Amino acid sequence: MPYVYDDTNIFARILRGEIPNKTVLETEHTLAFADIAPKAPVHVLVIPKGPYVTYDHFCAEASAAEIVDFARTVSEVVKLSGAEAHSGGKGFRAITNAGEHGVQEVPHFHMHILAGRPIGRMID
Ligand code: 5GP
Repeated sequence: MPYVYDDTNIFARILRGEIPNKTVLETEHTLAFADIAPKAPVHVLVIPKGPYVTYDHFCAEASAAEIVDFARTVSEVVKLSGAEAHSGGKGFRAITNAGEHGVQEVPHFHMHILAGRPIGRMID
């Protein structure tokens, strides 16, 4: 079944400038901004600017340039938060929720970057 993107979702409205956001980083294809209801001292959402519903949709249909830009922006957000696990930081968690069972609230693909406190285990 094809992915159906609903461009009335809140992140599409943020991308169109209809709703304000606290931007952390913006690149050609990607926007990173503070979550409105942070679950940790660092809680940043990283989204592609293109109309992708979920991670698998993004990986299947985005261009290589969009995917690399997204991945590098995630890395940059981690660096800015001081949470780089490979170079002395205390680490972070990157999460993406997809669809009903993944309890995705906003149907525009996004990665949560959480850091600044122990996040706790969800999967053992
Ligand atoms: P999901 O459950 O879809 O993975 O997460 C959606 C996230 O978007 C939640 O953490 C929620 O707090 C955040 N969110 C919802 N509406 C807004 C908004 O208008 N602005 C910002 N910055 N974040 C939002």
